[in-house]
Amino acid sequence: MQHEREAHVFIFPLPVQGPVNCMLKLAEILSINQIKVTFLNTDYIHQRLITHTDAPIRFRNYPDFCFRTVPDGLPEENPRTSTEIGNLLESMDASAAPIFREMLLTAETPVTCLIADGVFAFATDVAAEIGVPLLYFDTVSPCGFWTLLCLPKLIQAGEVPFKDGNLDEMITNVPGMEGIIRRRDLPSFCRTNDINDRRIRLILREAEHIPLAQGLIFNTFNNLEAPILAQIRTICPNIYAIGPLHAHLKSREARPATSNSIWEEDRSCISWLDKQPSKSVVYVSIGSLAVMTKDQMCEIWHGLVNSGVRFLWVRRPGSVPGCSDETEILSPDQDVTRGTEERGCIVRWAPQEEVLAHPAVGGFLTHSGWNSTLESMVEGKPMICRPYFLDQHVNSRYVEAVWKVGLDMKDSCDRAVVEKMVREVMESRKDEFLEVAEEVAESARAAVSPGGSSFADMDLLIEEIKTMKIAIK
Ligand code: UDP
Repeated sequence: MQHEREAHVFIFPLPVQGPVNCMLKLAEILSINQIKVTFLNTDYIHQRLITHTDAPIRFRNYPDFCFRTVPDGLPEENPRTSTEIGNLLESMDASAAPIFREMLLTAETPVTCLIADGVFAFATDVAAEIGVPLLYFDTVSPCGFWTLLCLPKLIQAGEVPFKDGNLDEMITNVPGMEGIIRRRDLPSFCRTNDINDRRIRLILREAEHIPLAQGLIFNTFNNLEAPILAQIRTICPNIYAIGPLHAHLKSREARPATSNSIWEEDRSCISWLDKQPSKSVVYVSIGSLAVMTKDQMCEIWHGLVNSGVRFLWVRRPGSVPGCSDETEILSPDQDVTRGTEERGCIVRWAPQEEVLAHPAVGGFLTHSGWNSTLESMVEGKPMICRPYFLDQHVNSRYVEAVWKVGLDMKDSCDRAVVEKMVREVMESRKDEFLEVAEEVAESARAAVSPGGSSFADMDLLIEEIKTMKIAIK
């Protein structure tokens, strides 16, 4: 017998909302296909999933699925926002990595395949030690990921750090992106003058480890990013492009969205949307990690109100550091307060997939996180992009310059720009953007339907995991 061992996948996501959500969706598809899955959460994330979702109950439907947990090493009250990611990763290297290794070495049913976030460099040693294939799953966009992989080249060629302050200079050392990205479109840490910056060191370490994996999984679809995937194949030929994952799960299961939110969703915004005219509302959110200053928040607020467009705005607790509660960020301006009462709805966390699918939503003012971008694309909603960090700067550039499904507000956040771009996407160029966005949506939905490229890649991944065909280098 070739494979009398039972296929057993061990999944370890980066413990933040986006990757956990994505990998849970992948875990669910593998479980539906009778593959045994162990899913490793940090205690912090797991506690929030238990509190705010039915995920643990939902997964009980799969007898071969189990959750395990590890500490992330940070104190409970420590924020887990974008500014803390470096600390979180260092802390996990020290506290979670050894436990993770021990779990794999002592698993009752031997692990036959490891799927881990690309940032976990320690996974390559552990996979080699237990002799199983490692698939890195970076849940950022492939276009963003490619710029990260090219960082060594950019440094070697002298393009990073930037030689002067001209952020409009075109970048020439990211193959496939010539004529598309400027300095300002690279991940924001490239703006540092310090080559020893902790974020640069982390990415260089990741770029070194990625080619050691037996394969890469991406949350994208071929029609959207084929040229970028071709570039990434020069580093790691075995790629599974299985996205958009949230739509993929729905397509395979023929059922509505399930939530893996680590904050409580405020569903009152859906009743509010129900009362608004078709495609009249701009949805505003900066995702689960980004933070902004009080000034930036104020500019966005004025811009939204001044545009005269209806808006649904997610203001995540903790997203304006230094402002501990709502009262500190209340607008002193009466016009803004009145405009908000008349046309706005503000919540702390929304059921985003459902919001974007709602007929009243006509556009998305987004931080350009990759999950948000894909969720918007699947629903055919044009975007106004205000990126904060990592792949978001690349994504927002691609949204405007390559996929043409929105505008990139990058580096400017004043009220006049917000107002102008909201009006453009929601009013003056509405039909043009909606037409392209609908084409992209159709292409995304086709990719995750039987006969589509992502559907085929997922079938291949399932088959190769089951038959243990993924060769170890
Ligand atoms: N999200 C949500 N409700 C909100 C805001 C965000 O459910 O009010 C979800 C959103 O649907 C997406 C994730 O949080 O799946 C954010 O991931 P993304 O990659 O867009 O950004 P990140 O949070 O990683 O910066």
